[in-house]
Amino acid sequence: MRKAVIAGNWKMFKTRSEARAFMDVFAPKVAGVNHCEIIIAPPFTALTTVIEATQGTRIAVAAQNLHWEKEGAFTGEISAPMIVELGCHAVIVGHSERRQYFGETDSTVRKKARAALAAGLTPIVCIGETSQEREAGETDAVLKRQISGGLAALTVEEFSRILVAYEPIWAIGTGQTATPAIAASAHRLIRQQVSEQFTTESAAQLRILYGGSVKPENISALMAEDDIDGALVGGASLDAQSFASIVKYPM
Ligand code: PEP
Repeated sequence: MRKAVIAGNWKMFKTRSEARAFMDVFAPKVAGVNHCEIIIAPPFTALTTVIEATQGTRIAVAAQNLHWEKEGAFTGEISAPMIVELGCHAVIVGHSERRQYFGETDSTVRKKARAALAAGLTPIVCIGETSQEREAGETDAVLKRQISGGLAALTVEEFSRILVAYEPIWAIGTGQTATPAIAASAHRLIRQQVSEQFTTESAAQLRILYGGSVKPENISALMAEDDIDGALVGGASLDAQSFASIVKYPM
């Protein structure tokens, strides 16, 4: 049985005081939730604020990025041990915005995922196709390439500690959610590829989150699909009421 994960990606939103105000409202609203794991990924500057606010709760905190080296002359970068020391449990790797605007590739995703795992963090590895790739019938090939390129060289044990987020780029921040059937079909393809690249057990245990314009109105239909194990939520995770409704989708 795969436990659901609902993760919120705040992107470059919220100062520390805004993060504190969010947590004051959000944490009590989800205090009784046990059906899913809850993760919040604030910007680096608000990590400690959110970590402090999650003490005594079941909410985990993720960073949105990391560098693959432990330390070094990499101005502006943050390493896995630095994130771990703050109290983070997870880190987003290879978000499409980082691939699109900051030159991330399957190769950097691979290095970042391994660095996160080595430090004991759960990497949330994002993959997904553009609208042009979908229209050209290349979705399967793109997902396969991103899995084989981005996750190559992980051991079966390392792979058992990652989360994958399927985020079709045409659905991110556009309000255009993939239908549950489209998302589930991509998740099945990912599981198939994982079973070929790792083991059938790896595929059966992998939790695959869907991301792309998830809202309180569509979360239940998405989660009703067997192959959808959770959601990575951008815009709708910025509002405490809206994110709490998403987390509480079956309640
Ligand atoms: C995201 O940032 O990963 C995301 C899916 O954004 P949104 O929910 O706003 O589409």
